[in-house]
Amino acid sequence: MVGTAALYVHFPYCVSICPYCDFDRQATGFGSIPRYVAAVAADMRRQSRRRIHSIFFGGGTPSLMEPDQVATLCRAASDTFDVRADAEITLEANPGECESARLTGFRAAGVNRLSIGVQSLDDSTLEQLGRRHTAEEARTAVRSARAADFDNVSLDLMLGLAGMTTERWLATLVDAIALGPEHLSCYILTVDERVPMGRDVAGGRLILPDEGAVADQYEVTQRVLAAEGYEQYEISNWARPGRASRHNLTYWRDEPYVGVGAGAAGWVDGRRTKRTPSPARYMAALDRGTVDLVEDERPDLITRARDWLALGLRLRRGIDPEDFRQRFGSTLSQALEPALSDLIVGHRLETVEGFLRIPAASVLVTSEILLRLHGAMDAWTPPLGRSDWGSPSGGSVAQSEAEGPQLRTARGA
Ligand code: SF4
Repeated sequence: MVGTAALYVHFPYCVSICPYCDFDRQATGFGSIPRYVAAVAADMRRQSRRRIHSIFFGGGTPSLMEPDQVATLCRAASDTFDVRADAEITLEANPGECESARLTGFRAAGVNRLSIGVQSLDDSTLEQLGRRHTAEEARTAVRSARAADFDNVSLDLMLGLAGMTTERWLATLVDAIALGPEHLSCYILTVDERVPMGRDVAGGRLILPDEGAVADQYEVTQRVLAAEGYEQYEISNWARPGRASRHNLTYWRDEPYVGVGAGAAGWVDGRRTKRTPSPARYMAALDRGTVDLVEDERPDLITRARDWLALGLRLRRGIDPEDFRQRFGSTLSQALEPALSDLIVGHRLETVEGFLRIPAASVLVTSEILLRLHGAMDAWTPPLGRSDWGSPSGGSVAQSEAEGPQLRTARGA
């Protein structure tokens, strides 16, 4: 969406910590939530005015907020930014906090899209994931969302889990489709050795399905969702026509986003920032009238081009060669040969309607493809003297300061 930006709002609190999770979150300090919300509102009000096309409350578990706290943050957003009347406003919700009254309150606060962290509709799988909800509670959550007038509901699911067969995954998928969501995010489990589940995998106490089994589950996902009328628009995301997440598309299109909250990353006006992930430090900084940034950089042209490529190739539409030329002053061929031709000849890349993309059958080897392309960029010399290379401005209507949210490609709450 040209000329506008997304707004990400991070809420780091969770009732408990799931053993696979490595997001910025904590299961303590709930008494500080009112102060945290006030700090986020203050953080927002420090930002420059710009046009906003989406707001995303991510976490953590934003559904732990009270509806009036969400309303406070929506108000702070409207006061600070020029929020489009048709802005997509998403809140991530845990099925455990989806009782009707709460959802009705979120809807009244301005939230118009709910992203529910279902993860599985199989109770033993939910137990393995350390989730506190049951499959029936997840189904009830979707029904409550409809009753609360949400007509845009997304469900998060996970595949590639220990003990998961293609049949068991298919059962969850079919069950989820029966709930009628407008959007589905189906993430392949990846675990870091720094989290408990990752240590269990590394220690041989938990065996994940092999690559072939995961590929089978993924292929079933593509096939079944396509047959049910869901369009795959990103590696892990499917939507009814017109229901792709506008907010997440912002990231994959390498467009600007502003972010507030502990751990939030931002990308505006050529500046990448990340706030401290510590809520205590975050709040203390806001109390002093400042923001505690743990990252603040202006990436060079090659770094930006690599990021653009890595993000854009996640999209099923692929990347626009003309967009690359306008942003970076070279053609894709100048930047990526000879890898580009090799990958096209090897059917790892294809051109469809002018866009360069990874064929459906090669999506699971996206990392290898990127490695080749990034390697080719080592020999690329970007044009000298370009100072106007498409820095995302987000349609700033005042002198911009920039900061922002967290790049979410896999979710939890
Ligand atoms: S997966 Fe979600 S609910 Fe679980 S700890 Fe992480 S952010 Fe919290």
